[in-house]
Amino acid sequence: MTIKYLSTKGGVSPVDFDEAVLQGFALDGGLFVPDTIPTITKKQLEEWSTLNFTELAFKILSLYIKSDLVSPDHLESIVQKSFASFQSQEKVEIVQLAGFDKTYIVELFHGPTLSFKDMAMGFLLNIMDYFLEKRKNKINIILATTGDTGPAAAWAAAGKNNINCWPLFPKGMITREQELQMTTINVDNVFPVGVSNCPDGGDDLDLVLAEIFLDNDLREKLNLSSVNSINWCRVMVQSIHYIYSYLKVAKSLDEKIVFSVPSGAFGNLFGGYLARSMGLPVYSFICANNVNNTLHKAFSTGVFQKKDLIETKSSAIDIVVPYNFWRYIYFMIKKDGIKLNSLFENFSNYGKIKFDDDIYQKIKHGFLSCSISDIDTIQTIKEVFSKSNYLLDPHTAVAVKSIDYLRGNLDEDSKILCLATAHPAKFPDIIKESLGSDVLPQQAKHKSLDDSYLKNEKCDMCHLKELKTHLIESIEKI
Ligand SMILES: *Cc1c(COP(=O)(O)O)cnc(C)c1O
Repeated sequence: MTIKYLSTKGGVSPVDFDEAVLQGFALDGGLFVPDTIPTITKKQLEEWSTLNFTELAFKILSLYIKSDLVSPDHLESIVQKSFASFQSQEKVEIVQLAGFDKTYIVELFHGPTLSFKDMAMGFLLNIMDYFLEKRKNKINIILATTGDTGPAAAWAAAGKNNINCWPLFPKGMITREQELQMTTINVDNVFPVGVSNCPDGGDDLDLVLAEIFLDNDLREKLNLSSVNSINWCRVMVQSIHYIYSYLKVAKSLDEKIVFSVPSGAFGNLFGGYLARSMGLPVYSFICANNVNNTLHKAFSTGVFQKKDLIETKSSAIDIVVPYNFWRYIYFMIKKDGIKLNSLFENFSNYGKIKFDDDIYQKIKHGFLSCSISDIDTIQTIKEVFSKSNYLLDPHTAVAVKSIDYLRGNLDEDSKILCLATAHPAKFPDIIKESLGSDVLPQQAKHKSLDDSYLKNEKCDMCHLKELKTHLIESIEKI
């Protein structure tokens, strides 16, 4: 049976996978969700435990992408191509943390831009290009970044015939290394834009994008699409690393496996929720926030409330409105688009919603959460480095520290898998600060970043207020 895609807001007729992927945002401003979630049996999981990453990815994606849309041969070659530039043969490496009980680091940063955003971005851009080629169409992608999405999208889009890409970043609020990954790419279909005066960082950019995407005439005229994790394909592909790492670490499907995930927009964790909905018996997820803790508050109090952004050391998760949470809420309220709309309205009007108790119970089922300060983040990087000789990036440190606080809520024999979402080399200043040294250890270096310092930069600059006009002009010129 073919899966159709609906909007969380219920305002569009069901579409096929290719439409959902190419549109990004649904035309009613909602997020695309599948009408059914395919299931994986225990027997299948057991059989799949010996597969390598790309073989497993192919099996899982075949459940969503049927052969009448993409033939198995094509799908397989798109999967291969999407992970070919990863620097690890395994694609995802799993390290048991010495000196910490039953704790594993799942390294999701071996892609070309050294963050977990590479896990899904390559596949998304490749499949978009494949559909566009078939349709003889072209699209323009605009996307906002808190630091890692922009580079991943720029690299995945580079050189694609049917795609132009505008990664937007809040100037001064991402690391120089992240900026250079975009500005030194030097291909003629990628146009990075540094945006100044963004008090709420990436969230400010998201608001401008939301406004542009809600204007359906403009969107059509400019052939726009989005590859932020509002795009269904991203969260779908992000379910694979949960299944893969689970099967690598668990001795049997009865083990208690916990995932601790540094969370911003809830795209990574939605992938985890999806994996569990497909049948992966995950014992619990830990939603690890920094002090921008909208999600932690929602899980621990049932109140979903927007607060002002606080800049932290784990800047990729400095997010105050985790938009993928809406997708999760949708499933928690029995896919009721009308109800979602009214919750969304209330949130827009009052900046806050309180869930009814029955909904709140469902929301927090199988989720623990935590909010970690910068002091804890820094301390954790230092402690783990001296104890285990393993260097965490600040986001992964947030996930690792959360385990400390939540250990009492977990079963003693749980195995805990921390998702490592970035390579520490993307955050050299924070590593120096944490280790109290001006000399970076070898683990905090990466050749691709060293090389980027030597390349020419190409980047447009604009003020947040002028962003919309700037984008329109720039896209029309192409
Ligand atoms: C994007 C990102 C996250 C957060 O992922 P979400 O899907 O937004 O929750 C965490 N860590 C790093 C390094 C990231 O780039």
